[in-house]
Amino acid sequence: MAELKGIETLTIEKDSFVIHPTLIWDEKQTLLIDTGMPGYMEEINLVMDKANKSLEDLTGILITHQDINHIGSLPEILTACTQHLTIYAHKEEIPYIEGDLPLLKTNPAKFTEEQWEELSDFLKFTYLHPPKAQVTVSLEDAQTLDINGGIEIIHTPGHTPGHISLFHKKSGTLIAGDTLLATNGHLQPPNPVSTPDMELAIQSIEKFLAYPIKQVVCYHGGIVTENVMEQLQSLVKTKAS
Ligand SMILES: [Zn+2]
Repeated sequence: MAELKGIETLTIEKDSFVIHPTLIWDEKQTLLIDTGMPGYMEEINLVMDKANKSLEDLTGILITHQDINHIGSLPEILTACTQHLTIYAHKEEIPYIEGDLPLLKTNPAKFTEEQWEELSDFLKFTYLHPPKAQVTVSLEDAQTLDINGGIEIIHTPGHTPGHISLFHKKSGTLIAGDTLLATNGHLQPPNPVSTPDMELAIQSIEKFLAYPIKQVVCYHGGIVTENVMEQLQSLVKTKAS
């Protein structure tokens, strides 16, 4: 069976939106993967309790990609924490997260007047004032972070240019971010509406076939444990034909 010590998938439900950040830790470090929408800090702190952790225990935050529901509460957490936090992201996502480039999918300049008017006041405000933070460590494909036996960075572009997924070697857990979605234990490709390059996204899913994956954590849809490798193979096959 998979060794699941030191890794916990969190579930946050807020405003009829459910997300699954992940926490990985060992004796020295505690790493949070993704931070929800702006205003999610309290919820994150509450669910971290499941792993007997709180925001004060964090040593770092890893951002899988620039989308607003992944970077949203990063600035709040950085402001609230008095300890030093290492912030990790893929090199191609850094200019967006740091605010040097507008976020690809929520750039107000890209909306038609009609699309803009359909947004809630909260989203209008958030898109006009996107969360930003300094990234301290730039990541690349195939790099391994030395935490809890090692997590390998897999560059999985398509949903965004610098999207990364993570493979936790000890437990065989793939943290897929938004490269995969899950519905009732079934893995699915990302939503084409929010994935500018679907072809590249499917090629990224193909990269997963090289890893001995026992379970997948989807940010949207949670943990999938049944026939994971078979499911991944059929996603790649279906799309290639
Ligand atoms: Zn996304």
